[in-house]
Amino acid sequence: MGRYTGPVCKLCRREGEKLMLKGSRCLSQKCPFERDRGYPPGEHGRIAQYRRRRRSSDYNRQLREKQKARRIYGLMERQFRRFFRIAERTKGLTGENLIATLERRLDNVVYRLGWADSRAQARQLVQHGHFVVNGYRTKIPSYVLGPRDVITVREGSRVRTYFIERVQQIDEGAVPRWLSLDLNTWTARVLTVPARDEIETPLNEQLIVEYYSR
Ligand code: SF4
Repeated sequence: MGRYTGPVCKLCRREGEKLMLKGSRCLSQKCPFERDRGYPPGEHGRIAQYRRRRRSSDYNRQLREKQKARRIYGLMERQFRRFFRIAERTKGLTGENLIATLERRLDNVVYRLGWADSRAQARQLVQHGHFVVNGYRTKIPSYVLGPRDVITVREGSRVRTYFIERVQQIDEGAVPRWLSLDLNTWTARVLTVPARDEIETPLNEQLIVEYYSR
C-alpha cells in the first residue's frame, strides 16, 4: 500500500496545526511550523490563511478534518476510506469506531508503546520485521490488533543498539490504559478496544462521518 513521501512539515502548515509527524523534532525549536507561524504552504500561503479565516464552509471543515486524520495516521485516501467502511459496518458510533480501529493499527500501537518517536518511524520498524504478534513475525503496519493480542520485539532485534537505548527511554507509565507493557520481557498486550476518551488524537470524528455521508 502506498504512502505519502513528500515534505511532512508542509502538511502541518496545510492543516494549520502541529500534527507531530516528526517525533522529537516537533518539540524542538527546529519545528518550522513555529518559524513560519503556520502559514499554508505555497507562494500565496499568507493570502490563503487570510481567506481560510474568512471563508470556512461546512464542507471545508469536514474535508480538513478528514485530511488531518489521514495525515496523522499516515494513510492514503483509499486506505483511509477502507477503514471508514469497516467502522461503518461495526456496531456503535461510526466516528468512534473509526478512531478506535486506526489506533489499533500495529504501527500506531508500536508508536503508542514508545518503541518509536513517530508513526512513520514505527511503520518502518514494523516493515523491517522487528515485531512479533502472537508468535508470528509481522511486517504489516496496517495490521489491526484486537484485545488479548501480544506484541513482542523479535529476539534478534533486542540486541540492536536502537532497541537497547530505546528500552531505557520508555516510560511505562506513559503507555495508554488500553495497552500494557512489560519491558523486562519486551512484551506488550492489547487489553481492550480503546474508548474515545482514552485516545489523545485531537480529532473531531463527527466531521469525518459527515464528510463521507454527503
Ligand atoms: Fe509538524 Fe513536526 Fe514538522 Fe513541526 S516538526 S511542522 S510539528 S511535522
